[in-house]
Amino acid sequence: MENFAMEIITKTPEETKALGEKLGKALKENDVVALSGELGAGKTTFIKGLAAGLKVRDFVSSPSFIIVNEYSGRTPFYHMDLYRLEGEEDIEDIAVTEYFNRGGVVAIEWAEKLKVLLPDRFIAVTIELLDGSRRKITLKETGTDRLKNMTFRGVS
Ligand code: ADP
Ligand code: MG
Repeated sequence: MENFAMEIITKTPEETKALGEKLGKALKENDVVALSGELGAGKTTFIKGLAAGLKVRDFVSSPSFIIVNEYSGRTPFYHMDLYRLEGEEDIEDIAVTEYFNRGGVVAIEWAEKLKVLLPDRFIAVTIELLDGSRRKITLKETGTDRLKNMTFRGVS
């Protein structure tokens, strides 16, 4: 399947969340969303939107010492934050890949730490800080067609 990418500028956290929600609505079971971007970029904000798009009712931002949070929504939803992981052993320890192909949607913050462990099909979300509260959000899919089918193409 051909790859597809788009770039969107958001000006507020609400816009970032709304973008996440639109993606969340387009996601299907076993989709993996890999988020990258520095601390404070807006990864968790985007994921709040994803969770809303998946009809998760009780989403909480990642608590400090929990690496995977599980929710139920339209599908199961697994939120991982790899910020505190260091080195390959840690990553093997938490068995990230066990959450793939379990019938849920997986969203991973600091996905750049996974490197080769990412699945063949995934949606990459990269958030860059611009000036003020503007963020440049790049969505790119490999092996799936969720972005193409989203209704928000061209937001902002
Ligand atoms: P991360 O998970 O990448 O560390 P968070 O989502 O926890 O980032 O935090 C992002 C912070 O930046 C929040 O305080 C949010 O209010 C603020 N913010 C300001 N502008 C934006 C924007 N356009 N999109 C997302 N967050 C923004
Ligand atoms: Mg975060």
